[in-house]
Amino acid sequence: MNLILMGLPGAGKGTQAEKIEEKYNIPHISTGDMFRLAIKEGTDLGKKAKEYMDQGNLVPDEVTIGIVKERLAKDDCKEGFLLDGFPRTIAQAEALEELTADLNRTIDYCIHVDVPEEKLVERLTGRRICPTCGTTYHVVYNPPKTEGICDKDGSQLIQRDDDQPETVKKRLAVNVEQTQPLLDFYQEKGYLLKVDGDRDINDVFSDIESILDK
Ligand SMILES: [Zn+2]
Repeated sequence: MNLILMGLPGAGKGTQAEKIEEKYNIPHISTGDMFRLAIKEGTDLGKKAKEYMDQGNLVPDEVTIGIVKERLAKDDCKEGFLLDGFPRTIAQAEALEELTADLNRTIDYCIHVDVPEEKLVERLTGRRICPTCGTTYHVVYNPPKTEGICDKDGSQLIQRDDDQPETVKKRLAVNVEQTQPLLDFYQEKGYLLKVDGDRDINDVFSDIESILDK
């Protein structure tokens, strides 16, 4: 089973990825992990990627695509893979079509964990962190026993700058702009599987399972 996972920040993509990986026994391949592995193994492409990253530059598509190709050719991808964070652009999506064809594979589904933006703002701005022990809380989903106070050490909880409403809205807008063309691309290809992500984690996963088990 060859899968792509898409979703905006806060949509719960990471949790679903873990569940898919565990049940279907396919590796969850995030772009960050893939780069780290290529760099650690010292492949030519890994070295190139490192040069760009060390200089604070974006890694160009040709290098990224090469690294994806190396990763998908590994033994643990024989039964399939779950791509997360790739593709990010139409050029990358087209390259992925070519390289899966080279490997005699096709993408089965692009799973889109869909959550309305206003819900994501609620999820992302509700996060509170303890500056002392680093424990993360959420005002709605995982509140401390006393509002604003860490359960473990009594510290006053803080909201990170990244979690302020204006910052969150901007970050989401950038992501929507980036993701929408890809969703359209996979819709046209007929791979797109939209799942309502605005529900309990297990219900979301049941929907994914019911499609993948067919
Ligand atoms: Zn604490």
